Amino acid sequence: MAAKRKLLIVDDSTLNRQVLSKMLSEQYEIIEAENGIQALDVLGERANEISLILLDIVMPVMDGYTFLSIHRANPAISVIPVIVTTKFDDEDNEIKALSAGAADFITKPYRAQVIRHRVEAIINLRENAAMVNLLEFDRITGVYSKEFFHQNAKRLIDENPDTEYDIICSDIRSFKLLNDAYGTKVCNELLAHFAKLFSEIAGEDGICGRLDADTFALILKRRNEYDNSMFAEINRKVNSFSIPTTVVVKYGIFRIDDRSMPVNQMCDRALLAIKDLKQKYDRLFDYYNSAQLQALLDEQAIIDTMEEALEQRQFVVYFQPKYNIKENKIYGAEALVRWVHPEKGFMPPTQFIPLFERNGFIYKLDRFVWEETCRLIRSWIDNGMTPVPISVNVSRYDFYDPDLPNVIHKLTQKYGIEPKLLHLEITESAYTEDPDQIIEIVDKLRALGFTIEMDDFGAGYSSLNMLSKLPIDILKLDMKFIQNEGAMNRGRNILSFVISLARWMNLTVNAEGVENEDQVERLRGMDCNYVQGFYFARPMPSWQFAELLLTAPIDSKGELLQIEAQPENLIAVCEAERPKGCMMIVDDIKVNRSVLKNYFSADFNIVEAKNGAAAMEYIKEHPKDISIILLDLVMPVMDGFQVLKTLKEDSELCDIPVVVTSQYGEGNEARAIEMGALDYLSKPYNEKLVVRRVYNALASATLSRQEKALGLG
Ligand code: C2E
Ligand code: CA
Ligand code: CA
Repeated sequence: MAAKRKLLIVDDSTLNRQVLSKMLSEQYEIIEAENGIQALDVLGERANEISLILLDIVMPVMDGYTFLSIHRANPAISVIPVIVTTKFDDEDNEIKALSAGAADFITKPYRAQVIRHRVEAIINLRENAAMVNLLEFDRITGVYSKEFFHQNAKRLIDENPDTEYDIICSDIRSFKLLNDAYGTKVCNELLAHFAKLFSEIAGEDGICGRLDADTFALILKRRNEYDNSMFAEINRKVNSFSIPTTVVVKYGIFRIDDRSMPVNQMCDRALLAIKDLKQKYDRLFDYYNSAQLQALLDEQAIIDTMEEALEQRQFVVYFQPKYNIKENKIYGAEALVRWVHPEKGFMPPTQFIPLFERNGFIYKLDRFVWEETCRLIRSWIDNGMTPVPISVNVSRYDFYDPDLPNVIHKLTQKYGIEPKLLHLEITESAYTEDPDQIIEIVDKLRALGFTIEMDDFGAGYSSLNMLSKLPIDILKLDMKFIQNEGAMNRGRNILSFVISLARWMNLTVNAEGVENEDQVERLRGMDCNYVQGFYFARPMPSWQFAELLLTAPIDSKGELLQIEAQPENLIAVCEAERPKGCMMIVDDIKVNRSVLKNYFSADFNIVEAKNGAAAMEYIKEHPKDISIILLDLVMPVMDGFQVLKTLKEDSELCDIPVVVTSQYGEGNEARAIEMGALDYLSKPYNEKLVVRRVYNALASATLSRQEKALGLG
């Protein structure tokens, strides 16, 4: 038997309720309420079941007009039509009630005929309005529109109390992109094509509806099992449609156990099941599970408490030291936020940052972290510590504020901190998403003196080419680079390739996620500047970092705070022997060799040779050991040109990078470069220039070796 539609009668007079009830109960199921408050309670729980409200205007507790105004403001209940009842056939009241949102008006004494007619007419009108919606909105696919699907699915469930149903929702991957690529017309055809295939699954008694641009819903008789092949088959057929890209559709299934749940909620849950599928490449469907709902509720709980948490300073900034890998000294730190939640305890940022990025709260939180960082730097300076640059994370969403440079600049001014002490980490993907806007703002920040670090480089679709065009100072290699590196030789090649390239472009390189000694050693062998990772130190509270600043050696413009005993748990690497590359210095004049030796002896094992013949003898004995040769051009016995020629003709030795040295004004450099030297240094030497050129030469040599190995050369 078909279920009856439900009416809510709101009247303070028991007699009136009984009279109405009697007139209507044959056709409708009646729910009664004694006043506006009670009526709202009923609606709060069962709004979606009720087809119409009969409302008395004059009532104690909450009168009809107040009820109407609340009714109107709440979209969940305003869709239910209201017929107002009153004692007097009073034109004023009638107009007032109608303009307050009532659909119609009846007067006491009631006449059964009239009332039944009005109620039926209004309900019809409302339900047909949904029909009109259908015509208006679903010409594209021919299936029910959202509202209409909800209504009909509901009716199906109600009218077949002994049948069990499931809801299946579908989602077309990257539909927006398809739309952009192939145009609305083609994509509308695709939707219609899909809708037809999808509805076929519903069978005779199922119903299909379109919920949203590219999401569809199906209600169908429960099947015991669904399997991938059934959905693969639809997807295969979808792709018979002529779009050159493979269209992937994913499906979520909600099994209806609680039949009183509103259909829109059932659809939400089926869609929720799809959310987690996005990462699972080959799985096409999944069932809704309550963990997904729990995750959603947890998110809501976070949203409800975030503002308060910020006010109450539940967010705490931690610091993870960064080390200068060559010198084993602290170079700086990264500020990383944590949430010390009164109930949930210590929460890592991965549990709330992505959510805050979605709802925009990230900007408030980031500003808090920046200010807190500035405040701490100030207090460290005031306490006589050597300040080190601290990097803060700047989310891509922070760039929506064009005033960002000013906001950050003001913070450093407020705490009297030099901008160079604040580094800004901007994730690589921000650059790729909207390069122009980011570059413009970043240029301003750099002009103000801030150092820009590109975070998570290599995690996304970075192009090495792009790097040279971007305004950045430091490249932070994504953890995956380092952590996958040991596994494959190729990974390792790529890592050193990227490091060389970055160094070649004069970028400083910071490697993240360094967890073991092996990784440290390998990074040392490459030309990496800074490292950060659990191996050295985990993120720590500010007081602990301050303690470290007081005790550990610090890398800051020559003024080093050397100490004897180091907290070994924090800087375990300090004692480790550093494997050095070998540099050969060839010059007949001892003082020239000494100057160069001085510059490089910390970083290289130095081998000296007085002339070309002696040099060649050593090189031939140790062909694999030499990282770089600094070669004087004018020497007795065998001059620099002869050495160069011999090296370049020997396939085993031709890759060793050579930088030539010559007296200023000799004019030999061009010839040497032509013969394969990578660069030249003129005497008298300028230390900075010499060091820069030598490292550049090393980087470019590594680069060309890697290019060869990768087949790019
Ligand atoms: P991120 O910027 O890439 O930060 C590095 C993350 O790697 C940190 O996680 C850090 O604790 C972790 N990490 C450091 N060394 C190692 C290691 O050796 N091994 C492994 N497996 N992990 C290591 P954390 O603190 O959980 O932060 C996660 C992400 O949350 C950050 O990634 C960053 O994207 C975001 N985040 C953290 N604090 C903030 C903030 O104040 N503002 C914004 N916008 N984002 C933040
Ligand atoms: Ca970062
Ligand atoms: Ca990172």
